Amino acid sequence: MQIEFLGAAREVTGSCFLVRVGGRQLLVECGLIQGSRQHERHNRDPFPFEATEIDAVVLTHAHLDHSGRLPLLIKRGYAGPVYTHKATVDLCAIMLEDAGYLNEKDVQWDNKKRQRKGLELLEPLYTRAEARAAHTHFQALDYAQSKEILPGVRLTLRDAGHILGSAIAELELSEDGHTRKVVFSGDLGHKDAPILRDPEKVAYADLVVMESTYGNRLHRAWDETWQEIGEIISSARSGKGNILIPAFTVGRTQELLYAFKCHYDEWGIGDWQVFLDTPMGIEATEVYASHARVYDERARQIYEQSGDPFDLPNLHLSRRSQDSMQINQIKSGAIIIAGSGMCTGGRIKHHFKHNLWRNHAHVMIVGFQARGTLGRALVDGAKCIRLWSETVQVKAKVHTIGGLSAHADQDGLVDWYSHFENRPRVALVHGEPEAIDALAQRLKRDCGADVVPANFQQKLML
Ligand SMILES: [Zn+2]
Ligand SMILES: [Zn+2]
Repeated sequence: MQIEFLGAAREVTGSCFLVRVGGRQLLVECGLIQGSRQHERHNRDPFPFEATEIDAVVLTHAHLDHSGRLPLLIKRGYAGPVYTHKATVDLCAIMLEDAGYLNEKDVQWDNKKRQRKGLELLEPLYTRAEARAAHTHFQALDYAQSKEILPGVRLTLRDAGHILGSAIAELELSEDGHTRKVVFSGDLGHKDAPILRDPEKVAYADLVVMESTYGNRLHRAWDETWQEIGEIISSARSGKGNILIPAFTVGRTQELLYAFKCHYDEWGIGDWQVFLDTPMGIEATEVYASHARVYDERARQIYEQSGDPFDLPNLHLSRRSQDSMQINQIKSGAIIIAGSGMCTGGRIKHHFKHNLWRNHAHVMIVGFQARGTLGRALVDGAKCIRLWSETVQVKAKVHTIGGLSAHADQDGLVDWYSHFENRPRVALVHGEPEAIDALAQRLKRDCGADVVPANFQQKLML
């Protein structure tokens, strides 16, 4: 029995792990590499295995850094099942199709330039139709439902509390009369986060493959975060400006709507018009609304008392681009949630154009902004930005809310590991080297953990 690390090895994205047991090959995650264009080119590389020789795939959750190369795997010949949580099946339907659409658009753009240069034309990584075809391979599971997915391979999903449907994957592997248990953390949620339950604790494993995104960071307390948001909304109300919120469509958008519902009177949300200006965000919110079974207690209560926990009496859904354009007429009293999360594209850029130069406008940054993105420029205090070859000055107040992370921080990660009573070997993945090294030190010091390296293409015997 063996595991090979084929992605998210000393980096965050591109999760992919190959498990070999009893002559079978099982792939856990098939994620997209995300980052600079040059780095993303590696998504086109041949897989370091034969797609046709994989017997089963397991996905922990729908984020593209875990699921985004699945349609490519199928395009290259994988014909078997993909096991994941029910809600992940629904979210993947939206996210993979959108990824396919963006692939097609990107290539169209590139090919225009390549054609002029006389270069060979590219084909999309996968198309929208190919992403849709991937959907027929999904096999939906519930949390705690244990299933033999291959002879000698038993899978159980546990709630990871990261986004809807996110799971910790427990694999019991049997070969020649020996059984070993490997636990893949997937991405672990931030304790006490809204809507979802906290990550489930697991008591035993022979090997833990664990994320370490924030292995070197501590988040601020939830109360402070809610207070911060409340204060921004009330200061904006007195100044009569709009509030623009660039948000990731899956997860953060629903957390915001839910927070508005929970603090509706306290934050004076009733005085505003709230716009959800993202078709994909609207669809994702519908998926969130249809999986009440996985909510935490508070969200469950709200659901039972008043139905949909993401609906507000003053919420406007703008699906069509005309709906979005109409919002441009509003100069004050609108809270606008739009994609993309890092402001690199999508409708938020149009709202920037109509609001950033206004004194009373506010921008609320609620998610991570990678270096080089428009969102990061705003966080770093840019005085003006370029939008479609036009310079727009930034008069709006930019607020950065750091506490809304969907990932456990260092304390959360150490606490999750500390519940393994036998202190199993742990391989740290899904983190920058500094985060991995800091977390490794703390796991060794606090828990006496045996932290094993997880470099690219490294193999570990089980
Ligand atoms: Zn994730
Ligand atoms: Zn991830």
